[in-house]
Amino acid sequence: MIARVTLEIALRKEFDYLVPPPLLGEIEIGTRVKVPFGSREVMGCVTALVEESTHTNLRSIVRVIGKQSLVTPKVLALARWIGEYYCCAPEIALKSVLPESVRKEKDGWRERLMVRLLPAPSLLPKITKRQQQILDLLRDRPQYPLQELLEAAETTGETVRRLEDKGMVTIGQEISERDPYADEIILPTKSLELNSEQALALKQIIAALDAPQQLSANPAENLKSAKPDDVTHRTFLLHGVTGSGKTEVYLQALSHTLQQGKGAIVLVPEISLTPQTVERFKARFSSGPVRTLVAVLHSHLSSGERHDEWHKIRQGRARIVIGARSAIFAPIDPLGLIIVDEEHEHSYKQEEAPRYHARDVAVVRGKMEGAVVVLGSATPSMESFYNVQKKKYSLLEMPSRADDKRMPIVRVVDMRQAARQEKGPPIFSHQLKEAILQRLEKKEQVMLFLNRRGFATSLQCNLCGYVAQCPNCSVSLTYHRAIQKLCCHVCGFDTKAPAVCPDPKCRNPGIRYSGLGTEKVESTLGHLFPKARICRMDSDSLKRKDDYRRILGDFRTGKIDILVGTQMIAKGLHFPNVTLVGIIHADLSLHIPDFRAGERTFQLLTQVAGRAGRGDVEGEVFVQSFTPFHPSIQYARRHDFVGFYEQEIDFREQLKYPPISRVALVTLKGRNEEKVQFTAEHLRKAIEEALKDLDDLIIAGPAAAPLARAETFYRFQIMLRTRHMVRLSHKMAEFLVGFKFPEEVSCTIDVDPVNLA
Ligand code: ADP
Ligand code: ZN
Repeated sequence: MIARVTLEIALRKEFDYLVPPPLLGEIEIGTRVKVPFGSREVMGCVTALVEESTHTNLRSIVRVIGKQSLVTPKVLALARWIGEYYCCAPEIALKSVLPESVRKEKDGWRERLMVRLLPAPSLLPKITKRQQQILDLLRDRPQYPLQELLEAAETTGETVRRLEDKGMVTIGQEISERDPYADEIILPTKSLELNSEQALALKQIIAALDAPQQLSANPAENLKSAKPDDVTHRTFLLHGVTGSGKTEVYLQALSHTLQQGKGAIVLVPEISLTPQTVERFKARFSSGPVRTLVAVLHSHLSSGERHDEWHKIRQGRARIVIGARSAIFAPIDPLGLIIVDEEHEHSYKQEEAPRYHARDVAVVRGKMEGAVVVLGSATPSMESFYNVQKKKYSLLEMPSRADDKRMPIVRVVDMRQAARQEKGPPIFSHQLKEAILQRLEKKEQVMLFLNRRGFATSLQCNLCGYVAQCPNCSVSLTYHRAIQKLCCHVCGFDTKAPAVCPDPKCRNPGIRYSGLGTEKVESTLGHLFPKARICRMDSDSLKRKDDYRRILGDFRTGKIDILVGTQMIAKGLHFPNVTLVGIIHADLSLHIPDFRAGERTFQLLTQVAGRAGRGDVEGEVFVQSFTPFHPSIQYARRHDFVGFYEQEIDFREQLKYPPISRVALVTLKGRNEEKVQFTAEHLRKAIEEALKDLDDLIIAGPAAAPLARAETFYRFQIMLRTRHMVRLSHKMAEFLVGFKFPEEVSCTIDVDPVNLA
């Protein structure tokens, strides 16, 4: 027999190897193997087993790594699809489907010594006082990790070993699982009684879960045969306003899946994967007839913890996994349901190869394995709602908040007027100031949002015109007052903040800091409301691992009156005592050079506003804006997603932007600007020639990227648009193999990019 193997060294090829007779029973698709390659041995993964090869003189597989194959044929099929669709080499796609800690086995299982109490012998030996102490401890807990036992008894290993000699205890090596949530006390919860909107949504999901289907054993076949217009729809878009109780619907759909003997994957954006969220899922399945372990996968786990969580899933002990982007590859089998919460979130897109979008991979995996997919959001992406319009997804709607809470009242404040009254734009309009004061008096809580950290966003000299720029990137430096530094938010460069203009010929002491960041909002608040307890939350203020949890905990228990923050506080958080939300500068995200600027602003405003009024007192939101009549702001004010969608889709249609078309963004990088530009121009011509039979292809560029220089590299982009991305990816992959780039110019291709910078 012959095994086809992809190697973990980056080569866009697969190689055939003989399976030697002793390994015959041990190799299947997905098995990891060590194979000879040139003069060395390298790791690889078996992707197919065949009888014949077109090559002669095949070499043999050296050995098998690990007992159970790590990549199931189903996940392997998914990796293949990713390689093809996202235009990347198969082994790169394959790497992403296994956590590094599982792939390398470098941490493996943690073993430790356990002490166990044996039944007392009939003739009791003589026991010393110290030994008795150990026995007493073991009576309460018959198996004790040796290390902990020694600490508890304040003695040495010698005492325990004596007891072993006397036949009272055994000491043995045991695997001890790491549990990232071991310290949490999680109380079981029961299903809530659903309101009528939730019940209707759940009913349709359950009907899809129960619907019989015919599946082939070959996942790729299932993907091909899934008909988009099929009315026994299996992909849902759950559009539920903030606070509509989407999580309860997910939990009950998960219960139903478990009852069917299947498992599920729940994707949550990294930023919302708080202990609070995880606990809601763990609590529901910690007892009762469908109890199961709930595994958690995210980037803050240690690599050992990730290893153990992954294997709990692989062994079938955890049938639900909740995690960020890469949890979509979790080896749940059989898979009944995939939930993608906050499906519009851009963090589902991986920004390095393979540049996959976990939401889209979820839909593909659902088709391959016959699983139902539920995409949930208060502000669906244009792509997903377009798929509803095209009847590819079914829409489930929950337009009101659970338990009769009302949506907050949103007031848009015209900052142009405020600027006129106050000789220059103030940070706080008098309306917002007044509102904060009132809420503080009533002992209610306030959240203030500004999506920019630091104190001031630029440093200028108005004598000589000097502006503090990053030496490596085409952005200005941000002033961080707490550390007295100017920092680049792209490459991390920092330098001491100057007291006078740094130009040796100028030396003007009157240099000016302008532009606004969260640090300045915090300090201004301190002057305005000296008695209020104010806390700031952004990536600068979080220094230690548990800061995030601690600050949110303090806010929840009322130790903080006003929480100021960046997008870190925008989403998913649920604080019943927050009755006022202020958005300091709503236009910020409107001005980014990206066709999704309006969509992003709408989403951000709606999500931030959704933090208000989740308890008994009605919520109020102040949106400060210099373009108060912009559609993104006005539709967000009215909580009108469909209205926003309809005007936005017109604009996308006119310019043939997604979701009307699909985009592949080609970016060239290099240190020599002219060389990069020249290569980009040459590349465009070559692409035009190579792809000339793609009739609907639109090629734009090359043009300097919005971020024209980053980390010392100049960047040029070519944007390709088509309705048929599979065809385009395929052609581009072929084309790129043959195209020779000059030495110092590198090229990346991003299919369905979410970030055009
Ligand atoms: P969403 O994710 O849609 O923003 P959540 O799932 O966080 O909303 O629910 C908001 C609040 O409503 C939570 O406190 C939740 O416990 C509560 N809730 C959800 N469903 C019900 C229900 N059927 N009855 C009472 N309270 C509910
Ligand atoms: Zn920089």
